[in-house]
Amino acid sequence: MARPLVSRFIAGDSLEAALPVVRELVQDRYVSLDHLGEFTTDDSIVRDAVTLYTDVLDKLADDGIADRVELSVKLSSLGSALTRDAFPATLAAAQEICAAADAAGTCVTVDMEGAGTTDLTLSVVRELRRDFPKTGLVLQAHLRRTESDCREIANSGTRVRLCKGAYQHPADAVYSTREEVRESFRRCLSILVSSDTYPMVATHDPRLIDFAAGLAARTKCGRGDFEYQMFYGIRPAEQVRLAAEGAKVRVYVPFGTEWYPYFMRRLAEHPSNLFFLLRGEGPA
Ligand code: FAD
Repeated sequence: MARPLVSRFIAGDSLEAALPVVRELVQDRYVSLDHLGEFTTDDSIVRDAVTLYTDVLDKLADDGIADRVELSVKLSSLGSALTRDAFPATLAAAQEICAAADAAGTCVTVDMEGAGTTDLTLSVVRELRRDFPKTGLVLQAHLRRTESDCREIANSGTRVRLCKGAYQHPADAVYSTREEVRESFRRCLSILVSSDTYPMVATHDPRLIDFAAGLAARTKCGRGDFEYQMFYGIRPAEQVRLAAEGAKVRVYVPFGTEWYPYFMRRLAEHPSNLFFLLRGEGPA
């Protein structure tokens, strides 16, 4: 019953199924490719994930599109529930993927996950950036700490994806209203834009997209100084419009069979999708 809606958000069960989508998107946009999977604790699944990412990179290089496609990687898919004990193994797996990406002429952004993972994820990215300085990190504007994290990394030259945040955190760690989260997003983006980081504005929210465009114009940010990022299947017409205006737009494209948690986060963000799910349709 969920299939039409799932296929709106997920590019395919396999790389072969997702590649035509990626080839089409890179005609006017950029892509961040995510192999779905999270909370893996089995070593053999981690090895499979590393092998799969290196295969992906080989295919992108063969196609001559590796410079337009980066990878998004969740540390919880690399063998840890993000505990201190698992840190060395998770870091080693992430380093292998970053090395393969670097060799193919592209890079990795490490997704940010839920409660208790922020500090560990930031320290893994800090380690990865020693050898692979283009490795990106994600900051979640709904967290009260994020403005201070932005100031801390302001002069590190890091690629930073700023998003609202899709995971649960303790109530006292997050802003509670939608407008507070937007205000935090605006403050954080202002810090990033006036620093030497490379901001990646990950939102579909028209008010924040307008704010980013105005900020870029006021601070004379050019096409190469920042990018917009949106999910595959969400506001595609807006993606095309921004790209046609000359902005750099990257589409986050998930693929694989482990789609359930990703799909449920997209449903939770936009409950009207449930209506389409119950009717067995993909929404307009
Ligand atoms: P919203 O207010 O949720 O949405 C604005 C408008 O966009 C809605 O009114 C609607 O028109 C449309 N829209 C948004 N979501 C949907 C949907 N599911 N279905 C249909 N329409 C929709 N979060 C993390 O915690 N960690 C990450 O690493 C992370 N990476 C991300 C990478 C990218 C490229 C993007 C775009 C988001 C990422 N997120 C991540 C998710 C993010 O934190 C938000 O949960 C998500 O983007 C929804 O917030 P919004 O800013 O788009 O605003």
